[in-house]
Amino acid sequence: MVTATFRFYEELNDFLPRERRRREFDCPCARAATTKHMIEALGVPHTEVELVLVDGESVGFDHLIANGERVAVYPKFEALDITSLLRVREHPLRHVRFVADAHLGGLAHLLRMAGFDTLYDNNFDDREIAAISARDERIVLTRDRDLLKRRNITHGCYVRALKPRQQLHEIFGRLDLAGSIRPFSLCLDCNAPLHALAADVARSRAPPSVRARFTRYATCDICQRVFWEGSHWRRMRDLLDEVVGTATATPASE
Ligand SMILES: [Zn+2]
Repeated sequence: MVTATFRFYEELNDFLPRERRRREFDCPCARAATTKHMIEALGVPHTEVELVLVDGESVGFDHLIANGERVAVYPKFEALDITSLLRVREHPLRHVRFVADAHLGGLAHLLRMAGFDTLYDNNFDDREIAAISARDERIVLTRDRDLLKRRNITHGCYVRALKPRQQLHEIFGRLDLAGSIRPFSLCLDCNAPLHALAADVARSRAPPSVRARFTRYATCDICQRVFWEGSHWRRMRDLLDEVVGTATATPASE
């Protein structure tokens, strides 16, 4: 056995028992235990971790813990640029895509509305979600920390908020999504790309009350539904403006 000293920072403390939060504590580690193994054994999903320092040096998840080492574990940083320090993952994901667990259907719809490719199905089990994530390089969204501990998940996000709108705020803030939105480019039901539909074609497929009032239409190749910029659309536009505004707001200088 070896013993190392651990200290977790910021919101990673939420995963720890009270007596271990925001302080150093010693913990016996199995011989040949890695940083990843110990961090998860202590209750923190590795996907929540952005940076691990051992005796002040940035290390990867495969670092073997030696006796007497001091391990400092940090979450995603929102404001501070630490890109040059990052060693835990080989590369960031180039395209932001998601797979949401069965409890996050509302969030999945809102992400699609903002134009983020998000797979969601009530029937996905944990094994399927992990497999999809690995196959497509999708970020797993879940409130189940055990799911995030699966070995083949490299990119995941533990969602803290309970309501879809707040979850959208949270994900936008943590992953800095505001600059990447493409509103109303995906079908909310199918997650498939929407295409503009010529007004004369759309009008033959839309109800009479709609035909007279709207000139811009889009359609989904999979479900064939026709969309127009009605009140539902405007309410969603307002929500997106609010989320993007909050995510990019800078503190007042007074
Ligand atoms: Zn569709």
